[in-house]
Amino acid sequence: MNTRIFRPQEAEEAAAVLRNGGLLAFPTETVYGLGADGLNEGAVRRIFAAKGRPQDNPLILHIPDAGALPQYCAHIPAAAYALARRFWPGPLTMILPRRPLVPDVVTAGLDTVGMRCPGHPAALALLRYAGVPVAAPSANTSGRPSPTAAAHVLEDMDGRIEGIMDGGACAVGVESTIVDLTVSPPRLLRPGGVTLEELRETLGEVEADPAVFRLMGEGEQPRAPGMKYRHYAPRAPVTVLRGAPAAAARYIRRHLAAGDGVICFNEFVPLFEGWPTEPIGPAGDPAEQARRVFDALRYFDGTETARIWAMCPDPDGIGLAVSNRLNKAAGFHVITVDGEGEA
Ligand code: AMP
Ligand code: MG
Repeated sequence: MNTRIFRPQEAEEAAAVLRNGGLLAFPTETVYGLGADGLNEGAVRRIFAAKGRPQDNPLILHIPDAGALPQYCAHIPAAAYALARRFWPGPLTMILPRRPLVPDVVTAGLDTVGMRCPGHPAALALLRYAGVPVAAPSANTSGRPSPTAAAHVLEDMDGRIEGIMDGGACAVGVESTIVDLTVSPPRLLRPGGVTLEELRETLGEVEADPAVFRLMGEGEQPRAPGMKYRHYAPRAPVTVLRGAPAAAARYIRRHLAAGDGVICFNEFVPLFEGWPTEPIGPAGDPAEQARRVFDALRYFDGTETARIWAMCPDPDGIGLAVSNRLNKAAGFHVITVDGEGEA
């Protein structure tokens, strides 16, 4: 199959791919999505095949505005509209009870569905022209770091899908925040561009799912099937360093061996001269780190790097999403150092 590249101005033509049951990767403000008509079961099945995604991992339905919610959701609490007013279009997915017309293949058989209205103008134009809810996970091969540029999508999907809309680099860089509104109190399932602190401002009490902070145990039943799988992982094993940045950097410097690579805050690049180094932004700028983190992880797959050391921000604000992605890429292999840089 020849994968056609669309420009953002070609939203109407690109939407025809979706209406005809094809697969189209498209830019959002978070990461690139791999879209199909969410009411067309055969088209949605092709997403799983193209990504090599486990069947029990549900997809998110993308809609152009909150007015479309009642078409797909059986019950919409006031909290959903309050969140939509403040954060949509934007990097927030709400888990709501589904209507029967949403196919099982989208929800992995759950009686809930993830709903999102993305903030990227090209994505919104596409959704309006498509006239159908667009089921989309991230447009990477399952398990790999998510794509934040069209070139990343091409790496994974060239020849496997009908089209890619190239909308440039993603502004947020990590996937949407997912909040489950079918439980009380509402529960954060995945941290993202909308922070836990912001959710609490609108909703009051919000619980963070334990899977946000640690690996699920063998016998544990995850609330969202996506929490169960190894994620965002480059080929080389990753070790994450927590603690004061200077101390973490010293620890990495002391343990660096031939063949290692480093993901670090910009200030520490000179410390690692001679080693493959991917800076992800200043230590005090977690929003920039969010934009850079997946590109940094992906970079090492094109190299012979044997081990990756990664500096990690504190889990506050969008730093929670960055640290969650790094921890998952590391399989939660995290070392915490003290002020002296000792583990
Ligand atoms: P991705 O496929 O990388 O875009 O991520 C989609 C995420 O949304 C996965 O982690 C899913 O587990 C989660 N998700 C989608 N639908 C639901 C749902 N109904 N309940 C819980 N999580 C969901
Ligand atoms: Mg994904």
